[in-house]
Amino acid sequence: MPPHAPALAFSAVSPATLIGVAATYLKGEDIQLLERAFAVAATAHHGQLRKSGEPYITHPLLVATILAEWHLDAQALMAALLHDTVEDTHTTSNEIAQQFGKAVSELVEGVSKLDRLEFQTEQQAQAENFRKMLLAMARDVRVILIKLADRLHNMRTLEAMDEGRQRRIARETLDIYGPIANRLGLHAVFQEMQDLCFRYLFPNRYQVLSKAIKAARGNRREVVSKILSALTQRLESFGVEAVITGREKNISSIYNKMLGKSLSFSEVLDIYGFRILVKDVAHCYLALGALHTFYKPFPGKFKDYIALPKSNGYQSLHTTLFGPFGTPIEIQIRTHDMHKIAEAGVASHWLYKSSDTPLSDVQQKTHQWLQSLLEMQTESGDAVEFLEHLKVDLFPDAVYVFTPKGTIKSLPRGSTPVDFAYDVHTDIGNRCVAAKINNELSPLRTILTNGDRVEIITAENAAPNPAWLNYAVTAKARSKIRHYLRTMLADESIVLGQRLLNQALRALHVSPHDIKDAQWELFLKGDRSKTRDEVLEEIGLGRRLNIVVARGLLSRSDIQSQEGLGSITIRGSEGVAIQFAHCCRPIPGDPIIGIIKKGQGLMIHTQDCRAIRQFRTDPDKWVDVEWENDTGKLFDVAIKLMVVNRRGVLAIVASAISEAQSNIDSVSIAKPDGAYTEINFTVQVKDRSHLATLLHHLREIPEVVRITRVQN
Ligand code: MN
Repeated sequence: MPPHAPALAFSAVSPATLIGVAATYLKGEDIQLLERAFAVAATAHHGQLRKSGEPYITHPLLVATILAEWHLDAQALMAALLHDTVEDTHTTSNEIAQQFGKAVSELVEGVSKLDRLEFQTEQQAQAENFRKMLLAMARDVRVILIKLADRLHNMRTLEAMDEGRQRRIARETLDIYGPIANRLGLHAVFQEMQDLCFRYLFPNRYQVLSKAIKAARGNRREVVSKILSALTQRLESFGVEAVITGREKNISSIYNKMLGKSLSFSEVLDIYGFRILVKDVAHCYLALGALHTFYKPFPGKFKDYIALPKSNGYQSLHTTLFGPFGTPIEIQIRTHDMHKIAEAGVASHWLYKSSDTPLSDVQQKTHQWLQSLLEMQTESGDAVEFLEHLKVDLFPDAVYVFTPKGTIKSLPRGSTPVDFAYDVHTDIGNRCVAAKINNELSPLRTILTNGDRVEIITAENAAPNPAWLNYAVTAKARSKIRHYLRTMLADESIVLGQRLLNQALRALHVSPHDIKDAQWELFLKGDRSKTRDEVLEEIGLGRRLNIVVARGLLSRSDIQSQEGLGSITIRGSEGVAIQFAHCCRPIPGDPIIGIIKKGQGLMIHTQDCRAIRQFRTDPDKWVDVEWENDTGKLFDVAIKLMVVNRRGVLAIVASAISEAQSNIDSVSIAKPDGAYTEINFTVQVKDRSHLATLLHHLREIPEVVRITRVQN
């Protein structure tokens, strides 16, 4: 045995085929990068063997070659070459980022993440895996494409695995990867995967069918060539230049047809398929006309997917003809461009992205693709779950959502229903009170995610709330809200300013009624403000201190104080000039205190709120406030529950909350920690005693082990 045999075997693996395919569409510098990536991967996998006994590097090399056949960009090909290095060798993500850039290392990371998910498949419920995996996928469609090529190559080489793994991998491919390929329009991949799955899941049926097909092939070849020349002549006589090919049916589709339409094997095999490629759309219809006047078409079999493309972008004319011997002929007619998309599906978005195609064009295409996902949703009910997560983070800065009419709006990431409402129309924004997201009532601050269907609920007398500025992200929404508040705020601030001033006067033992116009005139003479309203507005906005103005007024008179301390009564419906702090979320019954905040008016906190400790020593900044007896309003309060992990516990808690006449404003559920799960609710209550009743109801639920009201 020659001493260097293994080394020779490794050096025999050459990237020539990959480079050859890539060179047909990539630039020279990209090819050099590919060669470098190959060298790094080959070194990293050196000495590793696949189950088949081949050097490991053959796998990433062939995966990259598949992707090159789909014309994916250089980054994706490099990532494919390196896709198993982080998981299976000493190479780190950082090293890849340093050598090939962050984009490539992120793609590799993305694929590795999916591989790790696969690892759990054996232990966890299929459905859950499915969901998690798709979520992980949503980062970049190229990750999915690399994973599909990876899976395709693994399926092609499944022979080497033991029977148990063959069945498991085939099952998973059939359930998860095949459907993804189909959804993305990768038709050829979908078919090949299906055939390979069929082969490993039903080995006996596969053997029988493939033997039968082989036996029938000789006969068929003759029929095919006869029909082919008849079709060619017919099209030529109509002046249609076309490339015509006979289509072999794949085994799994023959099998599915036999099952689905209860046809016999020979009946299925008797159908002949042809594909006609022409130069443009006009020629598609011309060819169709030529053939329909040649062989009679089957009624009801004609489909115009050119005028009405399939949801994954597929375009073609389909028709079935009565052939020369009464045999059905299935015909697909399309342009060369449509054919590329039919074969490559979503990959074609990258395929034809040359440097002179503006990115907006690619976005445009993807946008259309997303739009088409909607049609698919309405068509196939059970695919919905699946698609929910595939509606994809292609563009990390944008989020795509649907209007109730099904139009897609793209908004900046982090947008909320408020942004959406202003995007639709300023009036809708100004009057919005609530939103339905995917048919569920949701708070206006909810961050929208891809694929959400958003409906805005408006009310005639509604008005923008300053709190919206905390979460509205679009420039349009923010400027409209500010504009509205500036005009509205002035009026409300004057009213509040008057009340604050009155309070300060009472604190100085002066009745507000005793301040005469003459005093105001004197005051304004030496002041930067020109009118009384201006002064009051500034107090209301917190730009001036009530106590200072009160003293100023008094210094211009000889009134002596007489009354006791007064406080401001809070109803909760004062509008923008009075706000409730988010840290402690006061509700009626809580002892409260008002803090004057510059430019924001009066902020109401609970007296023990930690956020205001510093102000307590500075009485000039705070204002005595108290609740009105019955505000007739609902207030948000945050509560935290620790519950036993048990199916249905959330439903029990939710119904207890509604039995206590309270509304749930939002829910978030933390990751289960051992036997317990933490649930955070924002609920609405009238006051403290209402909250007490609610908590009492909740404590009676056996699964609830702890309840706390959350205040910062
Ligand atoms: Mn792999």
